[in-house]
Amino acid sequence: MKDELNYQICSKTVLDTTVPDISFNENGECNFCDYYQALADRTINRDPATKRKEFDKVVGIIKQEGKGKEYDCVLGVSGGLDSTYLALLAKEEGLRPLLVHFDNGWNSELAVKNIENIVNILEYKLHTYVMDWEEFKDLQRSYLKASVVDVEVPTDQLIFAALNKIAFKYKIKFILAGNNVATESINPAGWVYKNKLDLINLKSIHKAFGSRKLKKLPRLGQYERYFYEVIAGIQRVNILDLIDYKKADVKKLVEEKLHWKDYGGKHYESIFTRFYQGYYLPVKFGFDKRRAHLSNLILSGQLTREAAIRQLIEPTYSQSEKDTDLDYVVKKLGFAKHEWEQIMTASEVSHEDYETENDAKHKVLFVLFRLAMFVPIRVLRFLGILYMPIKIDTRW
Ligand SMILES: [Zn+2]
Repeated sequence: MKDELNYQICSKTVLDTTVPDISFNENGECNFCDYYQALADRTINRDPATKRKEFDKVVGIIKQEGKGKEYDCVLGVSGGLDSTYLALLAKEEGLRPLLVHFDNGWNSELAVKNIENIVNILEYKLHTYVMDWEEFKDLQRSYLKASVVDVEVPTDQLIFAALNKIAFKYKIKFILAGNNVATESINPAGWVYKNKLDLINLKSIHKAFGSRKLKKLPRLGQYERYFYEVIAGIQRVNILDLIDYKKADVKKLVEEKLHWKDYGGKHYESIFTRFYQGYYLPVKFGFDKRRAHLSNLILSGQLTREAAIRQLIEPTYSQSEKDTDLDYVVKKLGFAKHEWEQIMTASEVSHEDYETENDAKHKVLFVLFRLAMFVPIRVLRFLGILYMPIKIDTRW
């Protein structure tokens, strides 16, 4: 239990001592305020003309590299606000994305409807990537049984794996991503597993608790990443950081142009995510992820602290919705009542208690692998046998 005597909340945001290792300066501002400021200063707070120039340059490169191909980029759509807006922006800029929707079995009807609207109104092609449900379920069950905090790793990792796989199949060099500093750069360590793409950690957790082999799910470990990035030359581009990204304006715009409908909370387009953020994390781990999302909006000047505090007073769920989702999720994942109770009462286990990519053994092997590839890759590029990527640096 948290020590209530030592409770403190940031004087500028709504992050508080439910964040492990949070610290405060003499003005009562937390370390995330500094973190955000530094990040924003080197990304979104730069001079608008400079950003616009960079944006046009990036769009130009994507078009140039996509000449003669059916698509010039891949765009993952969840039905959420960021990816919906990205789809609209791509259209306005004359890009030709292949839309990919990732179906892990948890999409809300509203999310599906939102995606249908994007596809129909903007006349895009949609590729729906359906995960093998039995394998995916086994993974999610493993993460819940393991008592680690970030049960969204399987989804996040497999989405990116699927996007890379599809980009490679269609010889597309760019993955447009909706990640952005203004609305989603505050992710306290301890609330998420930072290395979302750690396949070794995923396999280690699954090995301990899974009950079937993972054969059909796409893979994205460090070697696969090396293949996609270095050999195939596929890049992820966070284009939203190069424009003025204001949530309220964008929401209005996609509601108007794409009949987009709000589903209530950030990332609530998935029933599992809604349940995970609205019930599982607050009840089992004692924190409310909205604090991070709302603090992010305060820091980017899109919300007042007072409005954020008002929102936090509202429960994450209405009682009836919570009961419905709880029943649905537990059943869908095939847990018996007593198993679920065990999961909810078990103590937290760190992701690092399982094998990770950062373990010395894995690190050394990968360094050796990269060293061995260093010269051959450059020779093959020089000879024109291997694609030479034009580097776009928009990641943070
Ligand atoms: Zn703060």
